[in-house]
Amino acid sequence: MGDLVLAAVRTGPGKTELREFPMPKISADDALLKVEVAGICGTDVKQYAAPAVTGPVIMGHENVGVIAKVGRQFAERQGVREGDRIFVEHYVPCNRCGWCHLGQYRHCEATDWRTNPEARRYGYTSAENQHHLWGGFAQYLYLPWNAVIHRVPAGVSAELAGIVTPLSNGIEWALFDAGVGYSSTVLIQGPGQQGLSQTVACRQAGASLVIVTGTTRDAARLELAKTLGADHVIDVMKQDALERIMEITGGKGVDVVLDCTAGAGVMPILLGIDALKRRAGTLLIQGEMAAFPDFPVKKVTEKAITIKSARGHSYQACELALAQLASKRFPLDLLTTHTFGLKDVDRAIRSVGGEGDDGVIHVSLMPWKEDAQ
Ligand SMILES: [Zn+2]
Ligand SMILES: [Zn+2]
Repeated sequence: MGDLVLAAVRTGPGKTELREFPMPKISADDALLKVEVAGICGTDVKQYAAPAVTGPVIMGHENVGVIAKVGRQFAERQGVREGDRIFVEHYVPCNRCGWCHLGQYRHCEATDWRTNPEARRYGYTSAENQHHLWGGFAQYLYLPWNAVIHRVPAGVSAELAGIVTPLSNGIEWALFDAGVGYSSTVLIQGPGQQGLSQTVACRQAGASLVIVTGTTRDAARLELAKTLGADHVIDVMKQDALERIMEITGGKGVDVVLDCTAGAGVMPILLGIDALKRRAGTLLIQGEMAAFPDFPVKKVTEKAITIKSARGHSYQACELALAQLASKRFPLDLLTTHTFGLKDVDRAIRSVGGEGDDGVIHVSLMPWKEDAQ
């Protein structure tokens, strides 16, 4: 291990440069991860274009790697040793507040950059802070005592483990939040890594009908949705989506709508409201819109719709996602389409945003990629 660690640093909106940082000193109660894969998602695309956290930031919040160095207390507390492959959640919670005691640490203020400028969260913390290595677009990642880690089961590669985040979100949102289970009927809007992960989660949970929508550009992704268990796919540019959904459901509509369009505007939400069953359906939303003019409140309340917010994942969802990957029941490796090295972080993020390479579903940033070849 050298004295310096190479990292790709976001220095401003849409700007990245390679920088070296001092190797953090590891004491009794912390550890160091050799990063194998940092997954890139739609949030990275948004945070790269318009960063919420200013200053130099090492992005990368979906991290998998091998423990390179571990203090005695950390090893005891977390039950790990050097050489173990782990998935690191991006939350770095306080372990003291009410949310943490409830196990809902994704709501802990110590890790919420939206309300706390001092928050620690991988991919969202300035590299000017102590230990510097707070993101996965680097050769190493610093692990404090309160890092939340999961052991990656044997037989799951680092690249496959990179899908834990979208898959655990799928399990959290579709199953725990929206209550998808045996015989549920589900509409999933958007066939990206998130929508495809939800497709698998819903099938695994026993949904009797899964419909996935996308645009003409998503043709290959819609095909993959079918491979992963979607019963029907709809190209919303070629077909009247609502008419088709009502035809498929015999005019009943669906139990649950999951919006995985990552901020495609009001249309998916309006379609979702109409596509839900006559009474008491559930709509899961994840929006970047600050406002929603002419929101159909009357229709929502008359249909007794429950609206849920997509807000991260729990420990249990991550464990279930890892077990799902280990089971190999679904060919989730079909999602891992692209890998990039550290010097190509800019291109990797742009590719996820639809500006770079074609056919992108899930992108793995592999900081050691050049060295390996
Ligand atoms: Zn993400
Ligand atoms: Zn807390």
